[in-house]
Amino acid sequence: MTAKLYQILESTDLGSEVVSACTLQIHAHVLNTSKYIDQPNFNLIHQSDLELLFDEYDCRFFQGEVRQALGTTPLRFSLSKRMTSAGGKTSRFTNRLSGEQWFEISASTAILFECFEDDHRPIIASGIVCRDRLDALQRIMEHELIHLIELLLWEKSSCSQSRFHSISRRFFGHTQNRHQFITPREKAIVKSGIRPGMTVRFEYEGVVHTGRVNRINKRATVLVEDRRGMRYSDGKHYSKFYIPVEMLEAVGPANGE
Ligand SMILES: [Zn+2]
Repeated sequence: MTAKLYQILESTDLGSEVVSACTLQIHAHVLNTSKYIDQPNFNLIHQSDLELLFDEYDCRFFQGEVRQALGTTPLRFSLSKRMTSAGGKTSRFTNRLSGEQWFEISASTAILFECFEDDHRPIIASGIVCRDRLDALQRIMEHELIHLIELLLWEKSSCSQSRFHSISRRFFGHTQNRHQFITPREKAIVKSGIRPGMTVRFEYEGVVHTGRVNRINKRATVLVEDRRGMRYSDGKHYSKFYIPVEMLEAVGPANGE
């Protein structure tokens, strides 16, 4: 069931005009068809939209052969709020008891909704500038689709390997193969200038604390010296606070800068 897909994969090299025409058609089709995505910078998305996108890509770029290659193996779709460092993920699952296998493609709403909000730097995904949120979602699907195809044909997939690069360039014109978008972390850093290592001041339950930013995810982790706190590797004791970055005031530079 994979021979045709393999042959398409080997023999296709789409030029940039074909790629952009096809991806624009998919963009328009999703806007016309989706019950949730009603504008290019949509505020609502449902996991069925991922399936809609997947089938459009499979049809237009692979003659429906990815579905064929899946056979009876289920392909599921999910949206993740917690995935904050990657735009998407493709996984193969096996139920240990029943032996049932399935694939899952997930996309990060945390990343998507951070992008194209108010002022932002140009969003570049896979080496292509994305015009809007739907466009960014398309880059995610293109990337994950290649992961799925590699898993189906070769059991293993890696976007840091040359085979992946060759496929992503020939089908989608990708010139880079990373999962990166603006992450909440990057956004916090760009907007506020707050970086790990900085000394910051913040108010918590009416008390003003001064501490050092340890890391930034959705919130910043700030360590404040406290004799009753946990002992850290520098021998001092700290209490840990999780504070939204916009509530931090920088009072000192990051160490070593
Ligand atoms: Zn990847």
